[in-house]
Formats: sequence, C-alpha cells, structure tokens
Amino acid sequence: MFSRHVTKDISAYCHGELSNEESKQFAEHIISCIKCRTKFEEIKVGIKLAEQLPQLSAPDHLWSELEPLLGPQITQISRVTDRGWSWQLKVAAAGVLLLVSSLGAWWLYNRGRSDLTGKPYWQVTTLDGKPTIGKEGIASNGKLAVGEWLETDGNSKAQIAVGSIGNVDIDENTRVRLLETQPTEHRLELARGKMSARIWAPPRLFFVDTPSAVAADLGCAYTLEVDDQGASKLRVTSGWVALELKDRESIVPAEASCDTQPGIGPGTPYFEDSSAKFRESLKKVDFDPDAAARSAALTSMLYDARPKDTLTLWHLLTRVDGNDRARVYDKMAALDPPPAGVTREGVLQLDEKMLASWRDELKTTWMGINKKVPKPIAEAYWRAKNGLSQRLKEMAPK
Ligand SMILES: [Zn+2]
Repeated sequence: MFSRHVTKDISAYCHGELSNEESKQFAEHIISCIKCRTKFEEIKVGIKLAEQLPQLSAPDHLWSELEPLLGPQITQISRVTDRGWSWQLKVAAAGVLLLVSSLGAWWLYNRGRSDLTGKPYWQVTTLDGKPTIGKEGIASNGKLAVGEWLETDGNSKAQIAVGSIGNVDIDENTRVRLLETQPTEHRLELARGKMSARIWAPPRLFFVDTPSAVAADLGCAYTLEVDDQGASKLRVTSGWVALELKDRESIVPAEASCDTQPGIGPGTPYFEDSSAKFRESLKKVDFDPDAAARSAALTSMLYDARPKDTLTLWHLLTRVDGNDRARVYDKMAALDPPPAGVTREGVLQLDEKMLASWRDELKTTWMGINKKVPKPIAEAYWRAKNGLSQRLKEMAPK
C-alpha cells in the first residue's frame, strides 16, 4: 500500500479518470488516512450533484466486462459501508456511474454502422423538404457514406446520426461531407451553411473541418456556420469546443463564440454578452491588417473588459506582442490576479506552464462559478451542468 497523500487525485478518482490500479491504491489509502478522508468529505456537495443523474441499466455484457475491473474497489467499498461510511459508497457509486457512462459511450460507438458492402455510413433523417445525398434526393431517410455530400436547399433540413455518439442538425442551404467515421475519429466537412451538433462522447472524437478552422469537440453542444467567403462562426451552448488551425487554437466555453477568417484561422473567443463595442474592437484586433488600428482597438477593449472577459484577454496574450502584451497582462492581473508561481515576466515570455496554470485558475470565472467554491466541487458541478446528465439520458435504452 502506498503512503503518499491522495488529495490531488480526489477529483480524478470521482470522475473515473484514474487507472484501475491507481483507483485501488486511492481507495486503500483513503480508508486509512484521516487527512485525505476529511478532504474527501468536503467534496460531497459536488458528488451530490452527480447523484442526481438519472439511473440507467447498462447492457449485461458491459457489466460482465466491468466487474473484473471494479472487483477490488467494490470489496474495499463494502468494507467501508460496514463501518458506516456511506458517503464513500456514494462517491464510489458516482464514480462507477461515470465509468459506465464513458465505457457505455465507447461500447455504443464501437458498434458503428456499415452497409452490406461493409462501407461505413451515417443515418440521415429528413426534417423538412427534400435534401440530397450525392445527386439523389432522399425521402424520409437515407445513408451518408464516407466521401458523400449531403446538401439542403432553401426549403429542406436534415438530421444526421453521428454513429451512436450524437447528432447533427443540418439547416437550409447547407453542404456537408462525411470525411471519416471510425471508433477513434468522426469527421465532417462543413463547406457552407449552418449545423448544430450535440455530442456525448469522450473529448476529441468528433471534428468538423471548415474552410478556415477545425472544430474539435470537447464534450458539448454547439452551432457552426460557414458563409460564402469561407469565414465561420462558432457558438457553444454547452461544454467546450476547440477551434484549431495549425498552431493557433481557441478554447471556447458555453455561452461564448469565436469567429474565423480564411487564411488567418480562428479569432479570439468572446462571451456573447460582452458589449457590442468590445466585440467590434476584438474583430479589429483579430483581423485588421493595420498594426496601429489593432493597437488602438486593443486600448478600447481593455477599457471595457469585465472579469469574465479574461477568456478573451488570456487568448490575446499569445496573439499580441511587445507593449500590447504587457498591457493585456496588466489588465488581466487587475481583473483576476494570477495564482502563485505565475509571474509577469514569465507570462510576457509566454511560459507555457504559467499560461496553462493561469488558464486553469480562470476557468472558474469563465464558467460563472464563485471562486470560493473548492476546485473539485466546481469541476463536479461543471461536469454535471454540462451535458453529462444529457449524455446518460441519450444513452439510456429506449
Ligand atoms: Zn492521506
């Protein structure tokens, strides 16, 4: 049995992110260590949220695969219950539920679908009018195979089932192509128009290529729009989405948006409730070719920035330089001071660890959670709020 304290693993344990061996060691340690157990008690509030998730029955063979994995842990937990520590059972139950949910997702999409020729396809359902696949109009439903285009006109709409991991609604005047569907990657190309995606799978499994960026799902619901010039707009309604192009990445949380431009890639994410002036200035900072205009727009943005707009400012740190970067840092530090170990000098030199550490600290603000709430509780709350419950509902046998 290992003796180091496990407080930093509590959140990972509760979310089923530790390996089986690590989980076992965690459980063993926490039974005998009052310090860690006390800390564990503190996050019960977060676990209570997980308890409110709907119950569902997993397929029999999933349980038989799970039991050997969970054996030692379950033994530990029942010993604990005998001694009256029922909160641990609750935590374990929540952990198991989360584990079942992620394994369930894997099981579901691993089943995949393919036609008689063995070629994988996605099921398409007509919502309105007569969408086309290839050149063929489809009536109530059809199959979209890898490489095929699905197109809607001004009067038609469709819904695509993305394997078993989610669905995508295709609006009018939209053109999408299925690029890939495999257990490790599902990829759609949005050439023009608008789509809404709801995905309940582990992060980075569902991607959408647009002419100016790639949207990577981090467990979420979002809409993505591409205009005739190839510019796109992403709006996230739940969870997180990453917009990527080469080495440029924007991480976009719920209630935020991000615009992209062909040839430039993703702009900087911003909250939808930021002022029109703030957004107008950001557009210049992101896309105006004139350096003086960009710098002037930055001055206006910094003046208007609210604490949650550190989402925008944090992304700008790596996108502006010299004195502009220093101005962004100073405003951020005034709105939400950096955590211990993050220095002005380090941030101005774009020290990756410091940037990541500050971002992790700021996420609570971006999620609209009170900073006084301990991190594990905030994380549990965030996960519960963001679609986990929805995912479980979607996975429940009909
Ligand atoms: Zn300990």
